Amino acid sequence: MAQGLNETHDPARRSFVESANAPDTDFSIQNLPFGVFKPEIGTPRVGVAIGDQIFDVSAAAKSFDGPAAELARDCGISYLNIPMQRGAAAFSALRLALSRLLSVEHGDRGLRKYLIPMASVQLVKPMTIPNFTDFYASVFHATNTGRAFRPDNPLLPNYKYVPVAYHGRASSVIVSGTPFKRPRGQRKGANEAVPSYGPSRNMDFELELGMYIDTPNKLGEPIPVAKAAEHIFGFCLLNDWSARDVQAWEYQPLGPFLGKNFATTVSPWVVTAEALAPFRIAAFARPSGDPAPLPHLSDAEDQAHGGLDITLEASILTEAMRRAGIAPQRLTQTNFSKVYWTVAQMIAHHTSNGCDLMRGDLIGSGTISGPEKSSWGSLLELTARGSEPIALPSGEKRGFIEDGDEIIFRGFAEKPGFARIGFGECRAIMLPAD
Ligand code: MN
Repeated sequence: MAQGLNETHDPARRSFVESANAPDTDFSIQNLPFGVFKPEIGTPRVGVAIGDQIFDVSAAAKSFDGPAAELARDCGISYLNIPMQRGAAAFSALRLALSRLLSVEHGDRGLRKYLIPMASVQLVKPMTIPNFTDFYASVFHATNTGRAFRPDNPLLPNYKYVPVAYHGRASSVIVSGTPFKRPRGQRKGANEAVPSYGPSRNMDFELELGMYIDTPNKLGEPIPVAKAAEHIFGFCLLNDWSARDVQAWEYQPLGPFLGKNFATTVSPWVVTAEALAPFRIAAFARPSGDPAPLPHLSDAEDQAHGGLDITLEASILTEAMRRAGIAPQRLTQTNFSKVYWTVAQMIAHHTSNGCDLMRGDLIGSGTISGPEKSSWGSLLELTARGSEPIALPSGEKRGFIEDGDEIIFRGFAEKPGFARIGFGECRAIMLPAD
């Protein structure tokens, strides 16, 4: 069997939960992502997505034994940080037990009472997030963005040596479905002599993958590339909303601040690293002539298997489209395989000075843009900073996001011989500034 694969990845396994067997479901029995839901009665608690249902893990704790049972009992809590203390081996044991329990071969046998229709409950933020860091791992995005802000000097000379990132703001990370207000800020147009304070005029999305840390490292003890996987719990979709005008005016010399930290949206379901094992691929091949990463960021095994083949899409649904019953319009489709730095290199770099990662920390990949225009991950790129607006089926045009627009991300991994693994949705409506 290939690296990291076990019976939970068997594409032949089917669930007695019928909706989990649909070929286009995000939540097949091979996926089993973790999230937190708010039941009609009682407090929010951890559940696992299966088809269009949520399996109430803690309520069903008696169905498990050993480490899986201990972990299941811990799942009666409103954030994943406490269960995550039990470590990857316990999650792997619970995943295996769930895979068997929810299979057709096992059958219902009284388990249906632990299933809750996903549409009937609210999904909440799955984690208490101590820290949020956002990388800049797509060289295509870095070049496109650099060109918009610095036409003569798009890619700075450190890019191919340093996995560039900024420390974001954990307090304003919100879960999919939570509206946010258009931020106000200082911005100075090209033809304006002085800046003014007011609602951002250049609101954008950034299509990213997020990852959550489970095992912390001690302050002063870097995580090598080869050990990074032992610290990653799982992945989500992440929208790093950006006020481009505020960003352009503030970013030099210390990087993003108020242009980014007003809201970051994450999808509610966390797809485990184990579920994504079949979709590991070689790391992005650096073009010839690019420098090799420095030794502390180099690892042969990571180069061979450290990439991830995950398709990511962004769509828009404007207020007028919603009113007219028009379906969301896709703006871009890209793939995580295009990132210049692997997730292991990001973690190794983040801790290379001894910085300690904490359980529940959220790390964004940066906007995932590919080489083609159809795979660019932000409006800044897609519309050439608003100068080439996109036509929508409602007759509207968009250079940047307008009040009432909803941006919807989807993500999935597909490959012949394996079940589809989906991320669900990451969506939010931008409301007008006060
Ligand atoms: Mn970003």
